[in-house]
Amino acid sequence: MDDKQRQLGEAAAQRDWVNGITRYPDPAVEVVDDSFRKYINANAALERLWTGARWTEGPVWFGDRNSLLFSDIPNNRIMCWHAPSGQTSVYREPSNNTNGHTRDREGRLVSCEHRTRRVTRTEHDGSVTVLADSYQGKRLNAPNDVVVKSDGSVWFTDPGYGILHNYEGGVAESELPTNVYRLDPLSGRLEAVVTDFAKPNGLCFSPDESLLYISDTATSHDPDGNAHIRVFEVDGDSVRGGREFVDMRPAVSDGFRADMDGNIWTSSGWAGPGLDGVQVFNPAGDLIGRIHLPEICANVCFGGPHRNRLFMMGSQSVYHLWTEAIGAQRP
Ligand code: MG
Repeated sequence: MDDKQRQLGEAAAQRDWVNGITRYPDPAVEVVDDSFRKYINANAALERLWTGARWTEGPVWFGDRNSLLFSDIPNNRIMCWHAPSGQTSVYREPSNNTNGHTRDREGRLVSCEHRTRRVTRTEHDGSVTVLADSYQGKRLNAPNDVVVKSDGSVWFTDPGYGILHNYEGGVAESELPTNVYRLDPLSGRLEAVVTDFAKPNGLCFSPDESLLYISDTATSHDPDGNAHIRVFEVDGDSVRGGREFVDMRPAVSDGFRADMDGNIWTSSGWAGPGLDGVQVFNPAGDLIGRIHLPEICANVCFGGPHRNRLFMMGSQSVYHLWTEAIGAQRP
């Protein structure tokens, strides 16, 4: 980490996020490569929208509600930030310690639940349908993050953080390896599509869905483990390849989204000022920009009618930046 990067991170940590005025351009938005400039607005500031959680995760935009839903995992609730009013309220409590969320092609909320070790879908009438809770007769560990492909298939990671402690779920024995799964919602068939990650965590498709990105956060329990994002070629219902896209060390990538140009906007955390926040990589895997947050970031998503608003889950708070990027994933 260079001195400038560390200074930017420390400045973000010392900023008055409640009453402070930001001189444009916001120094917390760092241009690493000039190609990043077209994705940011010089007269937009990073904002803290809300604080009061213990660990925010799983952001998902609901355009029809003009709202952002996100998990507050230890507090066992899903929160809702309403854009027009700026108010944040409880959407569901208890939530079974949900973590990652997405929406399916019919707009229904799809959620990873730690405590109940399952992936669920919330129907339009509010009832909850279990999509997956076991594989080959054994219970899932604790699904972490989820994405739905345009064919309706549900892809999710199962690293098992939710059964390691009682803080974000409930302590239990692991019955399965830490796999990445694909669920066919019509047949109900569940397949382990990637089996060589220690802690598979965030995942997203490229804009044309030809590529699948998956992060490994193995360093959370093994200092010598991997902290990288790998990229796979999607081949029908399965994937192949899996080369390293970017090595995140000393930080880790927990969750991320692609924009329409194929850039990956990933959370970055557990490495201190200068690396806590968001890092943006172009499709070649080159770092082009950073967003410095005063807290560790766990996940991000795009939202708003133009899918250009970036929402960042920063530990106890939610942060936001208007960008000129367009999120690839709906929502
Ligand atoms: Mg995660």
